[in-house]
Amino acid sequence: MTEQETRELLTELLRLFYAKGWVSGTGGGICGPADGGGLLLAPTGVHKERVRPDEFFTVDPTDGRVLRSPDDASLRPSECNSIFCLAARERGARSVVHSHGLSAVLAGDLAGDADHVEIRGLEMLKGIRGVANRDTHLVPVIRNTPREGELVEQLSGVLADPRFEKTFAVLVADHGAYIWGDDIWEAKRHTEVYHFLFDAAVARRDRREERTP
Ligand SMILES: [Zn+2]
Repeated sequence: MTEQETRELLTELLRLFYAKGWVSGTGGGICGPADGGGLLLAPTGVHKERVRPDEFFTVDPTDGRVLRSPDDASLRPSECNSIFCLAARERGARSVVHSHGLSAVLAGDLAGDADHVEIRGLEMLKGIRGVANRDTHLVPVIRNTPREGELVEQLSGVLADPRFEKTFAVLVADHGAYIWGDDIWEAKRHTEVYHFLFDAAVARRDRREERTP
C-alpha cells in the first residue's frame, strides 16, 4: 500500500468509526504506518469524520517527535501520540485506534476494583490473533488521568504484565480504549471484535443483575 492509500484508508476508517460512535465529539483517534517507519497520526480536536488525507502528522515512534506536519498550521498532533508510540514500541503495533465508544466505557466499569475485565464464552474471541473461543481473555483496565499523555506510565505497566500478553486492547476507565494491530486491517478487525466483546460483556452483566434482584 502506498502512503497515499494508507492516508485515504485512515480517513475512511475515521468516517466508519464515527458512524459507530467510537470517535465522536472530536474524541478518539487513529494512526497507521507511514513510509520510512514513521506513524501517520490524525490531528487533535477536529471532527474526525472530516479529516482529510493531507491532514495527518508523521511522527517518530521511538520518541513521538513530529517528523512532518500538514500544511494547515492550525492543526495539532493528537494527544494520543505518546500512547500510540508506546504501543508501537512495546507491541510492534503499526496501527492503533483510540475509541471513545460507550461500550468501552461501560466495559471498563465491569472491572470494579480489579485491574482487568475477563471475557469468555464468545465465538467472537477468535477474531483476536492468538485467542481461541474457549479462552478466558483478560483485558487490562487503567485509571483515567486529566491529560491523555499522562496515561503512558500505567499503560507501560500493563503492557509489561505477563497476564496481559495476549491482549490487543487496553481499557481506560470512564474514557474508552486503545486497540491495535500489526497493520491497519488487523487494527480494524480488532477494533470491531473488541467492541462486540465489550457490548456482550456489558449486556450479560445487565442480564445477570436482572435475574438476581
Ligand atoms: Zn481519549
